[in-house]
Parts: sequence; C-alpha cells; structure tokens
Amino acid sequence: MALKAPKGTRDVMPGDAGKWQYIEKEFACICSEYGFGEIRTPMFESTDLFNRGVGETTDIVQKEMYTFEDLGHRSMTLKPEGTSPAVRAFIESREYAETQPTKYWYNTPCFRYEKPQAGRMREFHQFGVEIFGTHSVMADAEIIALAHDFLTRMGITDLELKINSVGCRECRPVYKKALQDFLRPHLDELCDTCKSRFETNPMRILDCKSPEDQEIVKDAPVMLDYLCDDCRESFEEIKKLLTAMGIPFTVDERIVRGLDYYTKTAFEFVTNKIGAQGTVCGGGRYDHLIEEVGGPDMPGVGFGLGKERLLLLMEQNGHQFGGKETPELFIAYIGEDAKMYSVGLLGKLRKQGVRASMDVHGRNLKGQMKYANKLGAAYTVVIGDDEVSSGQLTLKNMETGEQINVTPDQLIDKIRREG
Ligand code: ATP
Ligand code: MG
Repeated sequence: MALKAPKGTRDVMPGDAGKWQYIEKEFACICSEYGFGEIRTPMFESTDLFNRGVGETTDIVQKEMYTFEDLGHRSMTLKPEGTSPAVRAFIESREYAETQPTKYWYNTPCFRYEKPQAGRMREFHQFGVEIFGTHSVMADAEIIALAHDFLTRMGITDLELKINSVGCRECRPVYKKALQDFLRPHLDELCDTCKSRFETNPMRILDCKSPEDQEIVKDAPVMLDYLCDDCRESFEEIKKLLTAMGIPFTVDERIVRGLDYYTKTAFEFVTNKIGAQGTVCGGGRYDHLIEEVGGPDMPGVGFGLGKERLLLLMEQNGHQFGGKETPELFIAYIGEDAKMYSVGLLGKLRKQGVRASMDVHGRNLKGQMKYANKLGAAYTVVIGDDEVSSGQLTLKNMETGEQINVTPDQLIDKIRREG
C-alpha cells in the first residue's frame, strides 16, 4: 500500500511553495524594519522546558505534545510553540546581560497532537516575535502594531483586534476566587475539560469553545473589574497607544492566557471568514516566564501568528501571489558537441541570475521544444554544430515567434530588455 503523509500534516508542493515564500519574505522584511533579529532554535527540546514554559495545566502540555524518549533515555518534545525555546536561548546565550530590550522574531514549524480540521493541523507553522526585558507598554503596542501592519500588507483588512488584561500576581488571585465562586454552582454542567480546569486554571474556562460552557460563563465576573492600579494604568495606556497609532480594537474580556506567568495584556486578531479556527494571531505579556524557565526576573511580551490560517485567509481574499516562476530562456541542443557547449552556456547564464533551463532527459529536438513550451519558457535558443562554430545564436521569443541573431554575450541583454 502506498504511504501517506501523517494525519494532520501537509506537503507544500512547488505550485504552492511560492505563496509560502512570499509571506516568509514579507514577514522577514517587516521584522527587520521594526528592528527584530531572527532566532532559530532546535526542532526539539527537553520536555521539561515546555512543562515549565507552557505550563503543566495547559491543554498543550496535558494532551497535545509529541514527546518521546531518545536513545539516551532523555525525554524530548517536538516544539509545540516558539516562545519557550526563544526564552531558553535568551537565557543560555546570556543575552539578558546585554542592553535591553531584546527583540527576536522566528519562523518555525510547531507540533501539537490535535484533532485535524481546516486551520488546525498537527504540524503547523508560525511566525512569532518576542520582546524581552521591558515592562513598558510601548513594547506591547509595538508588537501589536507589527502584527497589524503585516496583516494589512498581506491585504487583510477585515480582522478584528481584541484586547484584554489578565491582571498580575497581585490582582488575579482575588479575581480567580470570584470566578470560582461564580462557577462552583455550575460545576456539574461544565464540559469535562473545564471541570478539570476549575481548580488549576479557571480562567481558561472563559474561552472554552463548547457552546454550553459559553452560556454558563456569559455572566461571569470579568478580570477588568478586578485590576489593581498598576494593571489598570497599563491597560489604559495600551488603549491610548493603539488609538494614537490608528489601530482599531475592541475590548473582549474573554481573551485569556490563563497561566500565572502571563500578565496584563492579552490580544488576538480574529476573523469569522475561515470557519471555526478564526484566531490568526494571538499574543500577550508574560512577565514571569523567563524566571520560570530558569532565567533572571525579566518581563516579556510576544505573539504567534499561524501561517496556515493566514494563507487560508489570503487565498479566500483572492490574493495575487504571483504565478509559478517560469524559465526566461530554454536552451535546446542538437548533437554531442552542442550539448557540451550548451551546458557551459547554461552555467554562465545561471551565474548571472538568468532563470535558464535545459532538458536533462535526453529528448530529441522536437521533444525539447515541446518541453520548453510546457515549462512556459519566454525565449529559446537552438544550438547545433553551426552555432557552436560561428558563435551566432538565434533567439526566439516564444510569445511573438520573432527571431533575432545574437552572440552569447548579448543574450541577457536581449532577454531582459524585451522580456
Ligand atoms: P487556538 O485557540 O486556535 O487553539 P492557541 O491559543 O492554541 O489557538 P497559540 O498557541 O496562541 O494558539 O498559537 C498562535 C497561533 O498559531 C494561533 O493564533 C493560530 O493562528 C496558530 N495555531 C495554533 N494551533 C494551531 C494548529 N493546530 N494548526 C494551525 N494553526 C494553529
Ligand atoms: Mg490551541
């Protein structure tokens, strides 16, 4: 039986790879404009990093990780997200001792054992950014601006930015208790996952996707009513900054991160255009994560942006990614000497950046020309013994059929000027 790609994974074939290259190039470009440096971390890490960095009470750690024991009997996990590895590298490289803040961006596959559906894969891909080392809300605003700017450049204007504050270690315990008091009488009616969240991570119940649970939490107390002065000031300032930047947003008390090391700002860019998996980008502040992973007491803020969901949205918007790249020149040859001459010419042209192709399948001339047509080559030259000895080539424009005589040195000029 023929083998298939594992469930929840997808091949990107050459016809689609251009779309990925396009968003990757644009994201790298905007991150450089905003002063972020790229970070690349290993595809797997010690399981312990994610237990600490994502949190033992999260869905990810409890049921979604690809964890395995390596041959040295160490527990390893394929990275389910990009923030904890970035934090680990920040600590390990001692970049925390340099001038702060530190600004990283990344582009990475992530692995989560989830139920596959549109916009939800087991191997998926994320862009992300992190700013470490500052409490200033300006950093929160800067990453939101980056995400907004990027999504706008990708032609997406119908996303809604939702923001919230999840408080801090001062004010959240008071709120957590109020929330548990509210939920306790409904405990039996909650879904099984939320029942288990009740003690450890009750805020996660607020963003449960079950409609029954949504109905129950509709009237639950909200964190915003419990913020301490410091958190309230931060929340007011982020709203002011976003307004000053001209970035529209709504406040949504249901957006949570729900772990002790996540603090203050939480945000999502959401759409209802690509089905149930509408969160394209999610992020927030995590003032205790670096310490939790074994580093100094330093704050951080960041986001993750799902590339599959972004592409779904762009495709739905009819985004023009540009077609598949076709050869600028196809070199056909007749005979052994011409073949040797042609491979030499091909190499020279490619060195100069020309998208030049030849048949590597031993076709006869007719077959080569058919193949050139199939590839969509803009120009062709046919090289035989006469061309090799005279150094005069006939360049044919495949669209107009027009033919001109050129020397090999004039080829580029003619192709580029007329093409
Ligand atoms: P969701 O609520 O949709 O499960 P999440 O809170 O688990 O999202 P994050 O961990 O914040 O997501 O990841 C950031 C982004 O990565 C999401 O906003 C989404 O665009 C994308 N993402 C997360 N999980 C998947 C997945 N299984 N398949 C495809 N994209 C995903
Ligand atoms: Mg998830």
